[in-house]
Amino acid sequence: MDKPIGTNEPAWAENLVTTSLPQLAGNVETDVCVVGLGGSGLSCVHELLKLGQRAVGLDAGTVGGGAAGRNGGFLLAGTSAFYHEAVAALGRERARRIYEITLAEVGRIAAEVPLLVSRSGSVRLAASEGEERDCDAQLAAMRADGFPVERYDGAAGIGLVFPGDGTFNPLARCCQLARGAIELGASLHEQSRVESIVFGEVRTARGSVRCRHVIVAVDGGLEYLLPELAGRVRTARLQMLSTAPAPEVSIPRPVYSRYGYDYWQQLSDARVVIGGCRDRFRDAEWTTNPTPSDQVQSCIEHILRETLGVTQRVTHRWAASVSYCNGILPVLDQVRRGVWAIGGYNGTGNVIGAIYGRMVAQMAVNGSSPLHAQFMPQPGEKAEVGTVTPYSR
Ligand SMILES: Cc1cc2nc3c(=O)[nH]c(=O)nc-3n(C[C@H](O)[C@H](O)[C@H](O)COP(=O)(O)OP(=O)(O)OC[C@H]3O[C@@H](n4cnc5c(N)ncnc54)[C@H](O)[C@@H]3O)c2cc1C
Repeated sequence: MDKPIGTNEPAWAENLVTTSLPQLAGNVETDVCVVGLGGSGLSCVHELLKLGQRAVGLDAGTVGGGAAGRNGGFLLAGTSAFYHEAVAALGRERARRIYEITLAEVGRIAAEVPLLVSRSGSVRLAASEGEERDCDAQLAAMRADGFPVERYDGAAGIGLVFPGDGTFNPLARCCQLARGAIELGASLHEQSRVESIVFGEVRTARGSVRCRHVIVAVDGGLEYLLPELAGRVRTARLQMLSTAPAPEVSIPRPVYSRYGYDYWQQLSDARVVIGGCRDRFRDAEWTTNPTPSDQVQSCIEHILRETLGVTQRVTHRWAASVSYCNGILPVLDQVRRGVWAIGGYNGTGNVIGAIYGRMVAQMAVNGSSPLHAQFMPQPGEKAEVGTVTPYSR
């Protein structure tokens, strides 16, 4: 393994002007306080502004400093479960509605930050004969419902191509969303860790926000900030690394393999960004410690060298916390009076997190959300069955 790199800085931060926002100091009053300024919280802030609300956003660290700015950069339609699994668990109609909404959301994100998104499609690569059969089942279910999917049989192996998917610089998107929200009147604060939330008041070490609603949009660590959610979500660490430009390989589309446990892509400047291996050290990775570990980093580097054939040096190693829920659909709940929570994206929150951010804003302010209604079972439809996610196998 290359020498560990100590900064825990994601490749996405390179050449990026990040935000520098004031810490919350003193007592302020607003309509809605959003806790967590990742992709989900910022999507929520924008929706609140659209709904005519005054919004204050607080982050313990920096904008996009959690998983939202430190992830693989994949924009994948669907839930954390593959489409045929979602059909089995949610029923065909409900799975179809949700897939449609997420596919549209990839387009929405591309329209929101066009310079940061590539609609490259994505590849699911089968790592075994069993997974090839699983790809066949996914292909059949998606085709039956008219969703874009093709067989992949190429240099990298056998699998599926999803032309509707894409990639982006996730940290740059967070920074852009934060700047846009401030221009529209939101008050956002970094280095402002929320220590307690009581009805109508959010407290940090140096200030407090009095408000009608609190929305907690914290993926990793959610069950610690809101202990009511312990048992429904569980925090885990995911890790990645990136290399210097690697002209010796050509990876035209982002790839995920081994049921999504391992994933990689090559950026436009030829750097390779790769993550995964969490399942190989599952016990150790159920942790709130968001720093890279030698064993997972070595495992990822093995795939980089042996499977992808990349010889360039590793330049960045990083990790972040996410949370897993008990099923396919993440948590969206009013956990205390006036306190709402979203999270538990099962390691794939870029797209669905943005949707959940909008849904929770609508629910908190209006008491209902047409978008949320689409996610819920309609009369005659079953509630979720089973607890299959790509990460709980
Ligand atoms: C290595 C890795 C790779 C991944 N790859 C992908 C991928 O390719 N595609 C995909 O869709 N998903 C991916 N994910 C998952 C995805 O990044 C997350 O699901 C998503 O970013 C969650 O966004 P969020 O805004 O809900 O949470 P976060 O980004 O975690 O934001 C929460 C924010 O809350 C703040 N916070 C926490 N506690 C407090 C507190 N007490 N007070 C105030 N603020 C607080 C944190 O500082 C953080 O900034 C990956 C995750 C990781 C870690």
